[in-house]
Amino acid sequence: MALRIDGKKTSEQIKGEIAAQVEEIKQNGGKIPHLAAILVGSDGASQTYVGAKVKACEQVGFQSTLVLLKESISEEDLLSEIQKVNENPDIDGLIVQLPLPKHISVEKVTAKILPEKDVDGFTPANVGRMALNWPTYISATPFGILELLKRYEIETSGKHCVVIGRSHIVGSPMSILMARNANPGNCTVTITHSRTKNLGEVARTADILIVALGKPEFVTAEMVKPGAVVIDVGIHRVEDPSKKSGFRLIGDVKFEEVEPIASAITPVPGGVGPMTIAALLYNTLQAAGRRVYP
Ligand code: NAD
Repeated sequence: MALRIDGKKTSEQIKGEIAAQVEEIKQNGGKIPHLAAILVGSDGASQTYVGAKVKACEQVGFQSTLVLLKESISEEDLLSEIQKVNENPDIDGLIVQLPLPKHISVEKVTAKILPEKDVDGFTPANVGRMALNWPTYISATPFGILELLKRYEIETSGKHCVVIGRSHIVGSPMSILMARNANPGNCTVTITHSRTKNLGEVARTADILIVALGKPEFVTAEMVKPGAVVIDVGIHRVEDPSKKSGFRLIGDVKFEEVEPIASAITPVPGGVGPMTIAALLYNTLQAAGRRVYP
């Protein structure tokens, strides 16, 4: 039976480490890390995500500022709100919650964020730095996966890593990070996507299989080499009348089938998901300490 990689426990550990560092900063009279979050509109899911991020800031002793803007805000006005945060010396990190309303360009908004404050790691400058293996803010989901591999001491060097999915937020950065000359890293990487032929056969050659295609329980046991490490990034809600909430969460991997043959696996929920907020807090602490851009 596979080792279960516990993202919930690991994210709590990281938050504890960050809280201890904030305490030390306070005692030394240093500047408390300060994160600003911009939320446009009143989408329920986005409100929940931003709310969780603000709450996590409080938990570790950070300062936070939530900027709530109307759905109807013009692109120009949103860009000037970002500029204000860019110029505010008290704010160390800025995130703009996605998705944005259709009349606003995500590219323009992302490019407007000062790379020094881009704790989501989405700006072209920080993605470029990641590809160059320079100090940067690694975006939340890839950061969470790397941290789990590191803390569970999973050997990656010389292994064959297959990534399923090539999105800008998960698959593509993951493939770059796993191939870097770093630890975790030093893998031989194959990136696959919707046009890949014989995906099952390719997946079965993986020592480390990272699954981020957004299709419920897509990866079955016959797509996994016995002894592989399986990282499941997918999150899907399925109806479940036996639950109080009426639903349960499943991933992109058929967990019951794959767990018995894998050597290690991330469950859904409780795997990659909980790590994302820890990543944001970590990056904000780095920003406040000027560790990425001295
Ligand atoms: P996306 O839809 O942006 O990208 C999916 C990728 O999968 C695309 O590159 C596409 O080419 C590829 N793909 C689609 N069908 C395929 C197929 N049949 N075979 C091979 N490749 C295929 O998705 P995303 O934003 O990368 O998210 C993927 C999943 O991860 C979703 O379920 C999402 O909810 C979840 N997610 C979880 C977290 C987390 O914190 N755990 C974070 C981000 C995304």
